[in-house]
Amino acid sequence: MQYTEIMVRYGELSTKGKNRRSFIDRLGTNTRNALASFKNLEIKAHRDRMHIRLNGEDYHQVSQRVQKIFGIQNFSPAIKVARDVEQVKQTAISVFNEVFYDGMTFKINTRRSDHNFEYDTNQLNDILGGTILENFPGIKVKMKQPDIILRVEVRLDGIYLSYEQIPGAGGLPVGTAGKGLLMLSGGIDSPVAGYLALKRGVDLEMVHFYSPPYTSEQALNKAKELTTKLAPYAGKIKFIQVPFTEIQETVKSDVPASYLMTIQRRFMLRLCEKIAENRNALAIFNGESLGQVASQTMESMAAINDVTSLPVLRPVVSMDKNDIIKVAEKIDTFELSIKPYEDCCTIFAPSAPKTKPRIDRAREYESKLDVVGLIDRALAGIKITEIGSDDHYLNAQEDSFAELL
Ligand code: ATP
Ligand code: MG
Repeated sequence: MQYTEIMVRYGELSTKGKNRRSFIDRLGTNTRNALASFKNLEIKAHRDRMHIRLNGEDYHQVSQRVQKIFGIQNFSPAIKVARDVEQVKQTAISVFNEVFYDGMTFKINTRRSDHNFEYDTNQLNDILGGTILENFPGIKVKMKQPDIILRVEVRLDGIYLSYEQIPGAGGLPVGTAGKGLLMLSGGIDSPVAGYLALKRGVDLEMVHFYSPPYTSEQALNKAKELTTKLAPYAGKIKFIQVPFTEIQETVKSDVPASYLMTIQRRFMLRLCEKIAENRNALAIFNGESLGQVASQTMESMAAINDVTSLPVLRPVVSMDKNDIIKVAEKIDTFELSIKPYEDCCTIFAPSAPKTKPRIDRAREYESKLDVVGLIDRALAGIKITEIGSDDHYLNAQEDSFAELL
């Protein structure tokens, strides 16, 4: 089928009352950004639907991108024909030529946005239904749950036919919930947490802590590569890398081993809070899941949250590991996440972290450290990279390694 446009139906945003216009505008902008490399497209975001005119661009390539845009409930590729019943009949026949099988049921569903057209919706349903019945022996009309619904829409500029409805990504347009920071490690959970936050409309920036020379360039690149996997859902993503070596060395030498993890995490949150302040972010997201490892208990979360008044949101908090992995596979981060490059936390992980750390103890151990100085120096070493879905960090690195050998 030579499709001429994609008709997009909005998701939840239809119910958002007076915010509706700004949601639609944001979805329109996000869609234009996501499809910017297809130069011939024309995109119009109307009140009830969005129309993406293909103007010769490849439907399959465009639709793959559309499937990753949050705020879209579903979409249908459509074929435009002139406002001429004979042409509509011919196109309907060619649609059924492609999809017809023995024993198939169907119905025609017409709507008109132009009420001056010579036939009304019932007449068009009858005419086209008759054409299909004549041309496809054995086919039956069925009103409830037919195998195929041919949708016909009469508009001023032509008549549009569609029969497929492809599920969209759901969720809310990215950016409609405001900005947030994601604590992105190289693991399985935090990219999934990021995906889920984006899905609820959060405009995310990544914060990654790294500890050279204890962590390799590859570990840093792995976090960046994971960011490229989230970019199709978000457009370009800012990746903020924060040097964490001095803090980890200090904590390791000056704090009892059982509190190492807790105090490190408290530093991470303090740093995130400062970064959020500078960048107008409203919340901190991370990939903690209750009970998954010894350090992810409610006591531990309380001891960590103690250092900030910003909301610390944990999208995967109640998900089972298997379910997190399913999402990781769907968004294509899983294979990357299980690559073995060492993360800063693994290297400095104590053999027996406290599962029920006490807030007063954590505060007490910290009072002996130069918290302000450590934070300031880490902030001074921040580097920000803008990352898009076509960028590559890991493979390029591996290739150049191979060349050197
Ligand atoms: P993940 O699979 O996301 O690494 P995890 O189960 O390994 O999670 P932890 O290592 O305990 O859990 O980390 C808990 C959360 O802390 C992570 O999900 C992530 O949000 C954050 N985090 C851990 N290490 C880093 C890091 N190096 N940089 C930024 N955030 C981190
Ligand atoms: Mg981890």
